Formats: sequence, structure tokens, C-alpha cells
Amino acid sequence: MTEKDYYEILEVSKTASGYEIKKSFHRLAMQYHPDRNPGNKEAETKFKEINEAYEVLKDDQKRAAYDRYGHQAFANGGMGGGNPFGGFEFNFGTGGFSDIFSDIFSEFMGGGRGSNRTYARPGSDVRYNMEITLEEAFSGVEKEIKIPSSKTCETCHGHGTKDGKEAPICPHCNGSGKVRLQKSFLVVEQACPHCQGSGRMVKDACPDCKGAGAIREEKTIKVKIPAGIEDNTQMRVPGGGEAGTRGGKDGDLYIFISIKEHKLYSRDGANLYTQIPISMCCAALGGKIEIPSIDGEKIELNITPGSQNEQVVRVKSQGMTMMRSKGRGDLFVKLRVETPVNLSARQKELLEEFRSISQDNSCQPEAKGFFDKIKDLFVA
Ligand SMILES: [Zn+2]
Ligand SMILES: [Zn+2]
Repeated sequence: MTEKDYYEILEVSKTASGYEIKKSFHRLAMQYHPDRNPGNKEAETKFKEINEAYEVLKDDQKRAAYDRYGHQAFANGGMGGGNPFGGFEFNFGTGGFSDIFSDIFSEFMGGGRGSNRTYARPGSDVRYNMEITLEEAFSGVEKEIKIPSSKTCETCHGHGTKDGKEAPICPHCNGSGKVRLQKSFLVVEQACPHCQGSGRMVKDACPDCKGAGAIREEKTIKVKIPAGIEDNTQMRVPGGGEAGTRGGKDGDLYIFISIKEHKLYSRDGANLYTQIPISMCCAALGGKIEIPSIDGEKIELNITPGSQNEQVVRVKSQGMTMMRSKGRGDLFVKLRVETPVNLSARQKELLEEFRSISQDNSCQPEAKGFFDKIKDLFVA
């Protein structure tokens, strides 16, 4: 991978349209093609760099990522690898959300989609992945999130023009953004080179947005997560997405909330589940055990004498909060009776004594029943 700036490699400006990038790439690729420069190592390197730069800049999403993070965006095995995007997710080719980075910049200038009808462009919807703790899901939480976004350029009111007025219709394509060219026997339709496919002639571009009509910015949004929210919930913030340009509607923000695994508790709806180890003596004699509750308090758990392994103790109203109710779910605690190990001589002595006075198994009815049952089998 090259360290050089992709825009410099392709000899285009940072605001170049897709069309301009493509044009420049073709020109440079022709110039430095190995077939035309046999044995020229320098040309070969240059040709590789040109291809690498074009791979990124021709793709709106990769280009936006590169603009934001530079070469870092593609380190560690690419977009997914090092995850330089924090909570953001890209939906490559999956449809649905267009992406956190709008393609307005490139499309306005060269996507070839412009016409009078599409002059006003709605902003894209934006997806944001948020991970919260189970405690936060329990109590509800307010989070401030930063999302890369774009807003309408105020200088030109989104028109991209220096005077801030709607740009006049391109006379070369009559505002359709497309022109038809005769290429030998074929008639091909192309993005109008005079207006780069926008259908409008921006003669003097707005100096602030370079004619794009929008400015990139980081948007801070406060999000209130309600108490009791379930894992994998999707929240919509209308108008929280990319700004529309030239009168277009703002996109929406979709927040996907997932809940982190908890050390102690697992959750099923409003109920919480956990397991705790207890000693043999505690199981036999009963006792009290303290465990932390989800709301940060302590729960004193009463172990009744004679508790069995895997027995479940239900603690009322110590589960999760519920979203449309004041009630709370329950907590279910499974007891795991631990057989003592590493016994000292004295402990052994006491247990031996215990065994010697418990020969009739009356303190272990299940074992007694079992041995009574198989006694006949021995006789037979
Ligand atoms: Zn502007
Ligand atoms: Zn035109």
C-alpha cells in the first residue's frame, strides 16, 4: 500500500466528481501502463499506485472513509478489520440504508443522475450501532453520540452557487444531466460533461462547499434510551440523518442498540437468571448469601436448610424494569452445591464421624430410596 495521497496520485482535487476521477484515472492509466513502458520500474510503481487510489476513490463509501480517516481506514485488513469507525457500520452492497456517508458529494458533481426532478436531494438515512450495559438497559440512559454527517451549506443555501441562488439549467443537456454521443457505430448516453450530470450549471461555485451544496461535519445527538429496553432494539430519530440538499428532506438516524454480556446475569425478557456456588454445609444447614442486584443494591438470599444442587430460588421483583410498565421481572438463582476439596485432617475426621453416624441414610432420602430399589437386583 502506498503512503501517498490518493487525490494527488490521481491528480484531482479533493472535491473532484466521480466523473473527473474516472477521467483522470483513464488518462494516467494509459500513460503509465506497463505495456507502454516496458522495463520501466518507476512507471510500474506509478501504475500500481494509480490503481490503488482509483479502487478507493471510485467507491463513494470507501472515498468517504478515506476522506475521514486517510490510509488508516484501510489498515488492518480493510474496512472491517481494525474498525477505525468505532460504532459505525457500513452496509456494503446490502441495500437498505444507503450509508452513514452520503454520496451527495460525488453524485451531485458527476453521478449522472441529475435532472430537474432530482435537483432537490433528500439526505441519506444513517445507521449507528450502540452497545450499552445491562445496568444501563435496566435504568435507562441518556447518551451523546457523534456521527459524521453533512449539513446544508448556509453560505449558498445548498445550491452550491456563489450567489446562493438556484443554479440555472445547463443549456448543453437541458437539465437532464445526460448527453448522447456518437461513438463510431454506437450512440452512448453519458453524464453531461458541462454540468457533470447535475443538470445545473454552477458557474461560480460557492467557496465554502466548492459547489457541493453541503458541508461535512460531525453531528452530536442526544439519545434517550428508555429503561427496560430489549437487546437488538432499533430506534429511529427522524431528521437525525444526513442533511438534504437544495430543499431535500433530511434523512433519518437509525440507532441499533445491543446489550453487552453481563458478568453475573443473563436476561430473558423481564427476568434475570444467574447461578451461584454454595457450600455443602450451607446447602445442608441453610444460610444467607449476598449477591449484587442489577440496580446496584445487595440482595440477601435465604438458603433454606436441605437445599439441593441445581435448585432454583426465585427472588420476586429483582429482575429487569419493563418498558411500558412500572413493574419489574423476577430474579432466578440456581444453586450449585460445591463438594468440599483439599480437606484438612480435622475436616476429614469430622466428616468421617458424620458418615459413621449417618449409615442408615435417613438424612439422604433419595440415596436411601435408590439403594433400597437396587437391593433386590443384588439378591437376584
Ligand atoms: Zn455552499
Ligand atoms: Zn448539462
